[in-house]
Amino acid sequence: MGSCSSTPASTNDAQQSNSPISSQSVEAQPQMANVLFEPGELTQPFDPEQHHYTVEIPTECDHINIVPILDPGLTVDIENPEKLEYGKNEAKVHIFNEMQEETTYFFILNRIASDNAYLSSLSLDGFKLDYTFNKAIYEYSAKVKSDTESVKVSLTLDDEAATYEISGNDDLKYGDNMITVSVMSQSKKIINEYRIKVTRPESAAEPSTSGEVKYIAITFDDGPSPYTDELLDILQKHNIHATFYLVGNRVSSYPNEVKRMVNEGHALGNHTWDHSYLKNLSDDEKRNLIGQTDDAVRELTGQETTTIRPPGGKWDRSIKSFDDKPIVFWSVDPEDWKYRNTETVVNNIMKSTKGGSIILLHDLYPTSVEAADIVIGRLKEQGYTFVTVDELREMY
Ligand code: ZN
Repeated sequence: MGSCSSTPASTNDAQQSNSPISSQSVEAQPQMANVLFEPGELTQPFDPEQHHYTVEIPTECDHINIVPILDPGLTVDIENPEKLEYGKNEAKVHIFNEMQEETTYFFILNRIASDNAYLSSLSLDGFKLDYTFNKAIYEYSAKVKSDTESVKVSLTLDDEAATYEISGNDDLKYGDNMITVSVMSQSKKIINEYRIKVTRPESAAEPSTSGEVKYIAITFDDGPSPYTDELLDILQKHNIHATFYLVGNRVSSYPNEVKRMVNEGHALGNHTWDHSYLKNLSDDEKRNLIGQTDDAVRELTGQETTTIRPPGGKWDRSIKSFDDKPIVFWSVDPEDWKYRNTETVVNNIMKSTKGGSIILLHDLYPTSVEAADIVIGRLKEQGYTFVTVDELREMY
């Protein structure tokens, strides 16, 4: 689908670039030589003898221009809705000859509803979600005060034809409550489900407010590598735990490093078998890319990966395929793979990190390992406590 252009196509341009104009001037029945839509496309080729058509309009376009191409001596009157609704809209093009005889062409303008609607915002009024909302993250948690009996979910959708249903937001019980927001396409098919685990404490022990909590997680993607061992030394020196998002097919090349991660208390995450984007693949393909990595880690260490990080953050949703493991993105991205410069990476991390941050680095580059050493030291000095992603998820 093209973009939704509002620039009308000029009839002159259209005549030059399209079908030849017949030289017959006035016939018994006036006919249109051709017709263009801006934007939109006929579902079948135009034939002057054929009077009924369907035109497919991209979902984002709520108006179009109809540009009839006429032989000399003919005139036209177009009945066209000003604003296109989702679904079927009707337009009529009346063609007149000099004797005011009329032929009418009928067009069904089908504005295609998106079949892939997402939430564009999601919040729990008065409470903080564990992650900043991202339409590709489907699971959130929030802690509420012990006397909170219900919470209100606020949200917006990115497709006005989509609808949503919220289940489970009334009547919070002590402990964990699940609120599910189901996003439905125009055809009422559920296409995306967002879940918020709302925890209502038993006692008066209230959750901390966000400003005071200075827990953060540092994560290393794409390894293991020749630099992982040195990185593990650095983590040991600072006495902190990190989270490693492992690429499965590298595990067997660095078995000692991966065993060390487990023995020294770091968390392991799944970054697919070969760093494939988990997008435009079948559920089976995604499951295999995840499963092979889990198998390799389990065989080597006896441990399971606990979270999944989709390579490149690219993920077209298949939460049902892996719904036992949370998908974890990041909130601080110093772009270490791009800069490969210790000072730049350090500065990028220091200026963006705050309580609850998940820092993204790659243990593929000596500059990133060196930067990790520096930022861990500085952030600890500023009062931050490093935890694994799993621990951070429990806290916020
Ligand atoms: Zn990666």
